[in-house]
Amino acid sequence: MAKTKKEENQVMENIISLAKRRGFIFQGSEIYGGLAGTWDYGPLGVALKNNVKNLWWKRFVLDRDDMYGMDAAILMNQNAWKASGHVAGFSDPLIECTKCKKRFRADHLDDHSKCPECGGKLGEPRQFNMMFKTYVGAIESDDSISYLRPETAQGMFVNFKNILDTFHPKLPFGMAQIGKAFRNEIAPRDFIFRVREFEQMEIEYFVAPHAWKETFEHFVKEVHAFIADVGIDAKKVSEHEIAPGDLAHYSKRTIDFEFEYPFGTKELYGLAYRTDFDLKAHSGVSKVDLSYYDEDKKERFVPHVIEPSFGVDRTVLAVLTSAYAEDELGGEKRVYLRLSPKVAPVKVSVFPLLKNKPELVAKAQEIWKVLKSEFGSVMYDEAGSIGKRYRRQDEIGTPYCVTIDFDTIEKGTVTVRDRDTGAQEAIKLDDLVSYLAQKLGS
Ligand code: ATP
Repeated sequence: MAKTKKEENQVMENIISLAKRRGFIFQGSEIYGGLAGTWDYGPLGVALKNNVKNLWWKRFVLDRDDMYGMDAAILMNQNAWKASGHVAGFSDPLIECTKCKKRFRADHLDDHSKCPECGGKLGEPRQFNMMFKTYVGAIESDDSISYLRPETAQGMFVNFKNILDTFHPKLPFGMAQIGKAFRNEIAPRDFIFRVREFEQMEIEYFVAPHAWKETFEHFVKEVHAFIADVGIDAKKVSEHEIAPGDLAHYSKRTIDFEFEYPFGTKELYGLAYRTDFDLKAHSGVSKVDLSYYDEDKKERFVPHVIEPSFGVDRTVLAVLTSAYAEDELGGEKRVYLRLSPKVAPVKVSVFPLLKNKPELVAKAQEIWKVLKSEFGSVMYDEAGSIGKRYRRQDEIGTPYCVTIDFDTIEKGTVTVRDRDTGAQEAIKLDDLVSYLAQKLGS
């Protein structure tokens, strides 16, 4: 059954409050009352985010032999943004209420006659460029204007020739980059879904013009495979083919991959066939030849581009939404994150049954160190009752907890507890590493 607005809000509130309570994500500049559209990732949030980025990098760069990694500068020569069309056209229609002065995106409003907040009269829509403008160097003049990049893509197009000249790749090949992007969104909202500073994981994949269709299909599959990798609920993901009339000026085909967020079904990722628009545009403005010479066919042409574009923050939110669960365990209500072990910020947690028994504490710390060197993110916790410690780990999505008790000293076994079922199993110390490695899929 579809959720009511109130239930949807409740789910978001629960996720936001858990994210804050457990150190995943905090409001940006919180002690100053915040800064709209910014969020700060705490220790567990950054661990989750890094796991997402590492999985992406592994799938799309490390495991392939046709992808070149990049980390281009955020600030670029302003001409790059003129060539790409962003200076003239990277805008959203803004509409302002004449009474309360609140601003809205005109395309997000059903009724342009009155303000949805105060009922006042709305002004005429006007275009608002979403790039953050700044000046580079000591002199503020038209020549020193630069922008915080609104997408990572252009940093790759302007390096296309560098990759050709240094690695001499044959088509098809791609460039991949993970990095920050900035958009002065008119109405940032929905937690980390629509923010002003975010991260993207993008690929520009260069092909011969005739090969675009098969590459497009290849990346449709790869996007779904990545969605499964990070543990986003595939049942909540759908493809939305953009109608020809609604395509961006550079695109001949675009699919939005949408996710059923608690506040509605919205874009998670995009996949676009950008033709040869970008390389031609940069070539035109920079006067640098950005064509490719096909040695076999003795042909020179400007490659076409397929661009899969992934938002890191929207991934994190989809992962948290997919993982958030409430149930009853041992007669008690609990909240837990059913995170895939691949993205869970903590893989295993180790507890001594009692903190006032030195032999248990010493053994637990010894095992903790072994597991830490094996699995990296392993936590040690001795505070409070075992039940409380389990609940804390459940809330942050730790897949397994290992408890060291008197049986460990006497019989050489530990208790391993499964997050999702709560089931506990006695495992021989000698088998612990291989048991966990198999369970964690590492
Ligand atoms: P929307 O229509 O939601 O504004 P968009 O179509 O402008 O998004 P793209 O330009 O295709 O987005 O950007 C590529 C990806 O970057 C998006 O699929 C999304 O994952 C992410 N992204 C874009 N804008 C934001 C934002 N303001 N906050 C968080 N992530 C964003």
